[in-house]
Amino acid sequence: MARISARIGAIEESATLALEAKAKALRAAGEDVVGFGAGEPDFPTPAHIVAAAQAACANPRFHKYTPASGLPELREAIAVKTGRDSGVEVKPAQTLVTNGGKQAIYNAFQALLDPGDEVICPAPWWVTYPEAVRVAGGVFVEVPTTAETGYLASVEALEAARTPRTKVLLFVSPSNPTGAVYPRDQVEAIGTWAAGNGLWVLTDEIYEHLVYDGAVAASMPGVVPEIRDRCVIVNGVAKTFAMTGWRVGWMVGPADIVKGAINLQSHSTSNVNNVAQAAALAALTGDMECVEEMRQAFDRRRRTALKLLGDMDGVVCPEPKGAFYVYPSFERVLGHRVGGVTVNSTAQLCGVLLEKYKVAMVPGEAFGTPGYARVSYALGDDALVKGLTRIGDALAG
Ligand code: PMP
Repeated sequence: MARISARIGAIEESATLALEAKAKALRAAGEDVVGFGAGEPDFPTPAHIVAAAQAACANPRFHKYTPASGLPELREAIAVKTGRDSGVEVKPAQTLVTNGGKQAIYNAFQALLDPGDEVICPAPWWVTYPEAVRVAGGVFVEVPTTAETGYLASVEALEAARTPRTKVLLFVSPSNPTGAVYPRDQVEAIGTWAAGNGLWVLTDEIYEHLVYDGAVAASMPGVVPEIRDRCVIVNGVAKTFAMTGWRVGWMVGPADIVKGAINLQSHSTSNVNNVAQAAALAALTGDMECVEEMRQAFDRRRRTALKLLGDMDGVVCPEPKGAFYVYPSFERVLGHRVGGVTVNSTAQLCGVLLEKYKVAMVPGEAFGTPGYARVSYALGDDALVKGLTRIGDALAG
């Protein structure tokens, strides 16, 4: 009998976390590595949120369990926030506080999928999506997109992937890894297509506030009310409030699916850390000025990254309007020599860049699209310029 179950044995290590670990190990060994791998803001959590957590620490009420579904005040705040930002009126009972957006995705697929149910998702996709689908017994069906279309999937391409077994469309805007933001009319067209075909939608809105150049992250259930009865929204405080380490996310959806997910969570992790929930409550009910300050810094770095990448021979980079990633194509670099090695894949290119030039980029292979690489610009302005200059030198030399 196998030592590891087939279900768990099939899970791949998170490529982004693995790359970060390698970069950290090099740094610990004294190397000056610039890490473009991070999926997290480099800012500290805003002071008023930290202060709320400190107060919660000193209050015995926060030393106890909360209901598995979350702190009631936080569920209330999530419902209010969903009405405000997504344009969808929900009751607190339709929310579940999870250990980051990741657990919300995991719970949602556990609650929705039976073996063989298909989930359509545009590629490139975030590394966790296919694994969360497969571990729930689902079949992950990808729809390729390209730099030329700004990594946006069309209704036609999605329709071509639909079969009688399709149950869910997995949608994210702004996207990780591309930073692409779907225009409102395209969100409407896709949502209308999903509703017309009786599909569920899992919409990941975790980067909703990080949008640039006047782009707006339109919420699919906000724009297409017909899908609300078959739609799960995933969100969290990690990206918006620089709170990745606090591990607070949530899912919002129809009461029956949310109840199923609560039952699952009550037997797996129970409630999210109570003090962290108090911090998330302060984030959701507090002033959003701190978010605007971080957004402006990201926007400045985004423009720096685009400028420097645009000056590199063979690199093609669409202009992302959201999140904190750029996703250039290195297809024209492949087959050429970089650092004395002929690189034939982006996995190999990223390996050479890390070892010889001390820059860590995540190869597109990790996101289902070889030939590309993800550059996170959630790092200091100087480090950003230093790292991109190293890449430019590597490609030029
Ligand atoms: N969705 C997307 C698209 C993400 O990029 C991430 C974090 N990398 C998450 C969800 C989950 O974030 P967390 O679990 O830290 O809340």
